[in-house]
Amino acid sequence: MHDILWPAVRDALEERKRAGNGDLFKLVSGADEIEAVYEVDQSPIGKTSRSTPGTYLKVFDEIRCLYAQLPVSRVRGYSASRFSFNTAGGRCETCKGQGVIKLEMNFLPSSYVPCEDCRGRRYNPQTLEVLYNNKSIGDVMEMTIEEAAQFFSAHPKIARTLSLLVDTGLGYLKLGQPSPTLSGGEAQRLKLVTQLKRGVNRAANERIRKMRKPGSTLYLLEEPTIGLHMADVELLLNVLHRLVDEGNTVIVIEHNLDIIAEADYIVDLGPEAGAEGGRVVAVGTPEAVAKHRISRTAPFLRDTLRRNKLTRTNHIH
Ligand SMILES: [Zn+2]
Repeated sequence: MHDILWPAVRDALEERKRAGNGDLFKLVSGADEIEAVYEVDQSPIGKTSRSTPGTYLKVFDEIRCLYAQLPVSRVRGYSASRFSFNTAGGRCETCKGQGVIKLEMNFLPSSYVPCEDCRGRRYNPQTLEVLYNNKSIGDVMEMTIEEAAQFFSAHPKIARTLSLLVDTGLGYLKLGQPSPTLSGGEAQRLKLVTQLKRGVNRAANERIRKMRKPGSTLYLLEEPTIGLHMADVELLLNVLHRLVDEGNTVIVIEHNLDIIAEADYIVDLGPEAGAEGGRVVAVGTPEAVAKHRISRTAPFLRDTLRRNKLTRTNHIH
């Protein structure tokens, strides 16, 4: 997936653009259906507290515009940048909009304390005087994504993105939570939601323009379930299903049987681990692979499929 599939598809896409000879691979078939290839890993989405889920998803830009359009802002001449905590003007200058002050101590690891001037709210008092439905931009930063989705329900553009996050189980994150505090699994899901958001926006635009259907993206994920709880695996599955429903292709390297059982097509490698493996043992739908005689995955897959079938029948009752 990393060394062959990804570069091969990337080359095929490049070649299509410049119609040249990217002949690293002799034959790549099926890439015509793909418009982009994207690897989604668990690496952090931001290294400083200047990045938050709100800024990463660009939904914070929309919120800032909303605050700039309020009558008080117009009278005072506050533009959207006034409501940014990353540029001078509206932010608290004591902490430079970080809400925290770094304490450097000899012989001790540096630690952070809430800024005394803004009491962790990142903005100066004048900016915080601007209220929308009785809440300042500082209050909004303190909201969970779920609360914010409710709060901005009258603004479809903002609410749509926030609802996507709620649907994918990230509603408990705070809009202003510093990105470095997110877990690898949360960062990965946030990246996937950015992709879903792009699909939703594009679909909305194209419905208006009556253009052809959105192009398909190839998503590559390596063991996305590492470090995830059972409930989170289910949420991840929901996101992956949504991507596929929108016409994209998702390829996952995985040992987790709950993910394997939900695939449309499995390539089972083995038969053993390490030097004894690496060969294709079985291919096909989960039901077909589960019946395979040699595959080490088959008996476990059978159990998982049987269990899934039982829980589904129970749901119907
Ligand atoms: Zn401050």
